[in-house]
Amino acid sequence: MQKDSKIYIAGHRGLVGSALVRELLAQGYTNLVYRTHAQMDLQNQAAVEEFFACERPEYVFLAAAKVGGILANSTYPADFIYSNLSIQNNIISLAHKYQVKKLLFLGSSCIYPKNCPQPIKEEYLLTGELEPTNDAYAIAKIAGIKMCQAYNKQYGTDFISVMPTNLYGPNDNFDLNSSHVLPALMRKFHEAKVNKQDKVVVWGTGKPIREFLYADDLAAACVYLMNSYSDDKIVNIGTGIGITIKELAEAMAKVVGFEGQLEFDTTKPDGTMVKINDVSYLKTLGWQAKIELITGLQMAYKWYLENVDEAN
Ligand code: GDP
Repeated sequence: MQKDSKIYIAGHRGLVGSALVRELLAQGYTNLVYRTHAQMDLQNQAAVEEFFACERPEYVFLAAAKVGGILANSTYPADFIYSNLSIQNNIISLAHKYQVKKLLFLGSSCIYPKNCPQPIKEEYLLTGELEPTNDAYAIAKIAGIKMCQAYNKQYGTDFISVMPTNLYGPNDNFDLNSSHVLPALMRKFHEAKVNKQDKVVVWGTGKPIREFLYADDLAAACVYLMNSYSDDKIVNIGTGIGITIKELAEAMAKVVGFEGQLEFDTTKPDGTMVKINDVSYLKTLGWQAKIELITGLQMAYKWYLENVDEAN
């Protein structure tokens, strides 16, 4: 990408998209384009086509998606599959039609089989059954990867796909019914501290293991790969380090300053027991995460405190 290349960030207000905008601006890219949901519904093909025809972006980061935690995914599977298929179908096909030089599609580590060996290597994709709590979302994301590869094969496009692990940071979703565990715990501990409650409820057994990557690290990796990687092979992005939900809760309590008890609600699902990306391929490509979990939690909590009214 040249510093004045026209770069479209789809989903620029979200956790990933907003981190991409920060990273691109910090690196001196001057010609970014984006639209809010109110300005352009990405599920509406005609609206998206009008945008591509008029703006003619040279590079596209496809960070727009309907995302949610374990409860939202298992309650609204139809919305997750429909929205994500529509958004990616529109953007990927129009990126080809309007001769975008390169597109980066964001998948997710939850697309891998439920029982695949850990840490997860890229080649495990489509080797087994999916986790049932988010299989509709996963199928949509897998279709997006296949679509990028199919366009590359048939039309010679340069569309690449990356698989981030669990992400967190500014502009995360803090709604307790639809969020992922990290922002949910941040909000729960914060509110418990403010309201002087003596306990916080953590879903599940606390035993599942997850990996967490700060969104700005992900954005740096995406810009790096956009500038250096052209291949059909998908690329995992993460830290490669897993911690239990209990350990995460304890670290979060410390960062937020909550001193009460944790209570585990085992009527809520654990989901996949272990989910850690193998990031050795990314390392061979020359990139490694920099922001440690505690530092990231402190930065994310600082952002949350400054934006608590809009965030909740
Ligand atoms: P997943 O990584 O796709 O399973 O999605 P989540 O981030 O929603 O959940 C990860 C793990 O954290 C699961 O085992 C949840 O049961 C657990 N968890 C504990 N407390 C919470 C909470 O308050 N919200 C959410 N979403 N998950 C929680």
